[in-house]
Amino acid sequence: MKAKSGDFVFPGDSLAVIEEFVPAEGTYEEKGKIKSLFVGEVARDEKNKRIKVISKTETPPILKEGVVVIGEVIEVKGQRALVRIHHVKGSSRAPVTSFVGAVHISQATNGYLSKLTEAFRIGDIVEARVSRLVGLTGIDLQTTQKSLGVIKAMCTRCRHFMKKVGKDEVICPNCGNREKRKLSTDYRLK
Ligand SMILES: [Zn+2]
Repeated sequence: MKAKSGDFVFPGDSLAVIEEFVPAEGTYEEKGKIKSLFVGEVARDEKNKRIKVISKTETPPILKEGVVVIGEVIEVKGQRALVRIHHVKGSSRAPVTSFVGAVHISQATNGYLSKLTEAFRIGDIVEARVSRLVGLTGIDLQTTQKSLGVIKAMCTRCRHFMKKVGKDEVICPNCGNREKRKLSTDYRLK
C-alpha cells in the first residue's frame, strides 16, 4: 500500500493515505486513499508531503480519441454537460472512475437545441465518443451520432429511470413526467 519512489504502478494502485500525503500530478483521491491515474513511476516528495506518478505513457492507455465511453451526467450548466466516465465501451479493463469529460452544446446532437437541458439531465447514463483529449483534464466528448447519447434517463422530479416514448422523448413510469433528451438508439428502457 505504501509506494516508494521509483515503484512501478498501474492505474488505480494505492500509493498512500490522504492523512500522510497530498495528491499531486498523476494521482487522484478515492475514499481517503491516493491512487495512481496511470502506468508510471512513483515520486515521493517527503519535504512537501506530495506524492505523484510520472507517466510512462502520455495518457491512460484505454482512454484515447475515438473510443466510446459510458458515464453519468454530473452537471449540466450553460453550454457544457459534465460526464463522470465509468468505463470504456467494449473494454474489460478496470473502470476509470476518476475521469470527467465534457459535452459542449454544439457536440450534443445534429439537430437544434435551445438549451442543453433538452439533451441531458443530472443522473442520466450516457454513451459518448471522446473527440479530443488534452492531458487528463481536457476530455471533450460528443454524442451526435444516432448510437450515442442518453441510454438511461433519470426523472428530474422523482429520480426514477424513464421510458422512451418518442424520438428524443422519455416518460417517467413513476410520476408521469415527460422530458426531452438526446437519446441513443441503444436506449435501455423502451
Ligand atoms: Zn418521475
